[in-house]
Amino acid sequence: MKRFSLLAAAVLFCIVAQPCQASSSTKREKDEAARKRSENHERKFKRVLDKQNAAFAVQLKGLAQWCAQKGFGAEALDLWNQAKELDPDLAGRCPAASEAIPTDADKAAFKAKKKAVFDAQAVELFKLGGTCFKAGLIGRAYDMVWEAVIRNPEHISARKLLGQAKYNGEWMDVWDIGQLKRGKVFKDEYGWVTKPDLDRYEKGLMPLRDNWLPAEQVQEVRSKWDSAWEFDTEHYHVQSNVSLTDAVAFGKICEDNYKLFFRIFIGYFSSRNQGEMLFGGKQEKKLMKVNYFATKEQFKSILGDIVPDIAAGIYISGRPQGTANFFKIDWATNTKILKHEATHQLFSESRRLAGGSKCGAWVVEAAATYMETCGRVEGRIVTEGRKAPWVQAFKQVLQNGQSKPLRDFDQLTYPGFQSIGPGIAYPQAAALACFLIEADDGNYRERFVDYVEAYYLGKLNTGGKLEEFTGTSYTELEYQFRTFIMEDDTAPVGKPEEKPKSEEKPKTEEKPKTEEKPKTEEKGQQK
Ligand SMILES: [Zn+2]
Repeated sequence: MKRFSLLAAAVLFCIVAQPCQASSSTKREKDEAARKRSENHERKFKRVLDKQNAAFAVQLKGLAQWCAQKGFGAEALDLWNQAKELDPDLAGRCPAASEAIPTDADKAAFKAKKKAVFDAQAVELFKLGGTCFKAGLIGRAYDMVWEAVIRNPEHISARKLLGQAKYNGEWMDVWDIGQLKRGKVFKDEYGWVTKPDLDRYEKGLMPLRDNWLPAEQVQEVRSKWDSAWEFDTEHYHVQSNVSLTDAVAFGKICEDNYKLFFRIFIGYFSSRNQGEMLFGGKQEKKLMKVNYFATKEQFKSILGDIVPDIAAGIYISGRPQGTANFFKIDWATNTKILKHEATHQLFSESRRLAGGSKCGAWVVEAAATYMETCGRVEGRIVTEGRKAPWVQAFKQVLQNGQSKPLRDFDQLTYPGFQSIGPGIAYPQAAALACFLIEADDGNYRERFVDYVEAYYLGKLNTGGKLEEFTGTSYTELEYQFRTFIMEDDTAPVGKPEEKPKSEEKPKTEEKPKTEEKPKTEEKGQQK
């Protein structure tokens, strides 16, 4: 199999792009040309993927028919259903299984045939991923690498790009392998521990400074914030005064969310970082800080006046580094809040930012509210889509005639966005993210990520940007947006959320206009 290198592809892409930079066309014309190229690449990608899927569906159908003849009833149905999912127009119904009893030779033949069909599809998907990367469709490229692994879990090149390697016969993240090689094991109760330390834990001891003392005694001391647990995961430094087991679980959620974020917003990272991060094993220069308090009272008393009364989580930007702060509620709620605030943290800290965009501020909350709805199942991203509570709330906002015209909404600064009120601003931002990422099979997804990047890099200094980035007028976008949101009639209209559960520090210097906003920049340095 011919392998490709995404890093090499990135370099190639930069070289190819040079002549464009040398042209005498204005920046606006160049941006427009780049957008059109991206649209063309997107169309080509969809055509190729549809063709690949249709061919794969035919292969699956043929294999299903063979299975039915040999008496593999369940396998035939499973393959047929997979084929129908890929190509809903596939004619006919799954053939009934014969009365034959499959022999050992039949079983071996089935295994070999299935592997050949799925492996060949993985090769095609991986190749398509390489083409996407060269064309600048970073999100699509990453999706294809994941799809290749789903079709063939032993696809070595794809695993490598996902930062995974084989250790003791199992595919694992390179960072985890590093821990194992250092003689550590992961335990849900204690996190990564050496074997001698594990023995001590299992004897009912826990570490405190340089001593191992009875667990109850240590937990009592650790319940005070000044002597809370502190440990590192791959991308985070966690401080927490909950039980060690809960702190470890919280760290795992942080890491899961990081992977989810990277999957959806990979286009936000610089080309160089994409190359480095895709290959895995690169330790982040700086771990992001998260604080997980045992109680709301501690959360508020330690962080001080910066925390609004309604906040159940807050990201506080700061120099040289911010912190994302939470307190223990329940796992479902904590997970959602963490996804929201950690998204603010990731956008703020994963790149060197210029700041200062004067419009398009809705993207800050759009990305965070969208991430609340995302999860992963067997390597694939699953979202609540238009069923998400925020989007359902926006349907109600629309029906009440309270939504803001897209043109006006897009011109707002962050304080302007907040001044609309959370009952309108957040649902509209969330619904817009859902539309731009999911409508028409992700047609605007890459350009939405470009738009988010431009906002955080401080490049949005005049109004009218979303229509430039999407190449679609506000009038047409508004129509597509409303149609997309309202056409989903199967979902009940949910109750609008009264207030957002979490807030983050604004990044602008303007004074907040609403009571919900944090008040100062500096207090976030408190611990
Ligand atoms: Zn937020």
